[in-house]
Amino acid sequence: MIDLKNKSAIVTGGARGIGKGIALKLGSLGANLVIADLNEEQTKACVEELKGKGYKAIAVKCDVSKEEDAVALVDACQKEFGSVDILVNNAGITKDTLLMRMKKEQWDAVIAVNLTGTFTCTQAAIKYMLKQKSGAIINLSSISGENGNIGQTNYSASKAGVIGFTKACALELASRGIRVNAIAPGFIATDMTAAIPENIKAGMINAIPLKRAGLPEDIANAVAFLASDASSFITAHILDVNGGGFLPGGGH
Ligand code: NAP
Repeated sequence: MIDLKNKSAIVTGGARGIGKGIALKLGSLGANLVIADLNEEQTKACVEELKGKGYKAIAVKCDVSKEEDAVALVDACQKEFGSVDILVNNAGITKDTLLMRMKKEQWDAVIAVNLTGTFTCTQAAIKYMLKQKSGAIINLSSISGENGNIGQTNYSASKAGVIGFTKACALELASRGIRVNAIAPGFIATDMTAAIPENIKAGMINAIPLKRAGLPEDIANAVAFLASDASSFITAHILDVNGGGFLPGGGH
């Protein structure tokens, strides 16, 4: 049984989608939560929902691509809960278009949130984790970072970057008791994938060996495992949570 009692967990992009699913799961296992997101109202509403379930939670307005926001976020966690035990780098965006049409701003925006945002929050968090000599960091990569995907050169590059970042961090931090792992989700039903036309979505789901879209809970269960002592001998790992979609011929 996973127990996260008295552990503090920061979830970036935690106000909706996969991030909210992760927050609900970690809260149910006893973690104290810091929900970091761009939209202040949405973040506060999420925190009220978490508190309504009896979980301890605070909201922090944060743009992960800004170094000063990341530092303030982690400081807020330390101040409120007295430690920084779990960091889930979940905030992410897409700006899909074919490479020949991609504007540099679309490239820059996706790299800034998905990759640089993972760097800023991780660097800020390890300041405390190094002193504690403990910590678990879980980064959200994607099947698109492993396979590539048409129309997602920016997103695939950012998520492949997250994989390299995860492995390098894990090696640097292992001797200090800090584990760093990533999850590579396949197709998960959230607002991010809701915009995909129905006929394309149906084809994508049909190509998944387990024949269903993933749910935020599927990712949250994997995060809970990687955040807990149940995975204490696992670091530098990229966990595919994709219904078998990564298998050759599985498609995505
Ligand atoms: P989502 O529904 O679009 O939610 C993303 C969340 O991140 C939103 O709350 C958003 O805030 C927040 N966010 C965006 N930019 C931010 C920034 N600069 N600073 C702080 N927060 C920011 O996405 P999702 O589907 O839950 O995806 C979560 C993560 O899983 C992402 O990293 C994504 O790339 C990854 N992933 C998703 C899928 C999938 O199929 N859904 C598959 C593979 C990987 P706002 O509400 O203000 O926009």
